[in-house]
Amino acid sequence: MKHLPLRVDPITSRRMSLIRQAGTTPELRVRALLTALGARYRISNRDLEGSPDLANRSRKWAIFVHGCFWHRHPACKRATTPKRNRRFWLEKFEANVRRDHRARTSLVRLGLHVVTVWECESERPDFDLLLAKRLNLGQTWSGGRKGGAVAERSTSKRRPEDARPRSAR
Ligand SMILES: [Zn+2]
Repeated sequence: MKHLPLRVDPITSRRMSLIRQAGTTPELRVRALLTALGARYRISNRDLEGSPDLANRSRKWAIFVHGCFWHRHPACKRATTPKRNRRFWLEKFEANVRRDHRARTSLVRLGLHVVTVWECESERPDFDLLLAKRLNLGQTWSGGRKGGAVAERSTSKRRPEDARPRSAR
């Protein structure tokens, strides 16, 4: 298996984790795993809502690799809120979460199995197992049993956005 430069110094690693772009460390880890598993995928899927980081249209799955801070990983200690300009941050975070939800809902409607991978999860030693489990391997792309991996479909109900309190300007 070829080696990817997965180890970087802590400062660089932190800086990278704050920037969501192709090629961040968590995404490289996911890519390396998928490759090792023989899964084929495309990156930067701009034609799909939310531009999932990795997707395979014919196998009908999409993966978002999310930074815990920007995308508000629930109950994660990295999902902190800066004390300064608190309101600005809260609004920004809320918009991000809403956008993520909308993207997921839209892709699930297209029949895609949508998987979210969090930055902190990608650093766990058992990440490969976790990812394989979440991708429902063996159903999603090995046997081509389409529709076998859509367990998340029913749980993702649309949240009426208008019901959410709008912050006053
Ligand atoms: Zn996290």
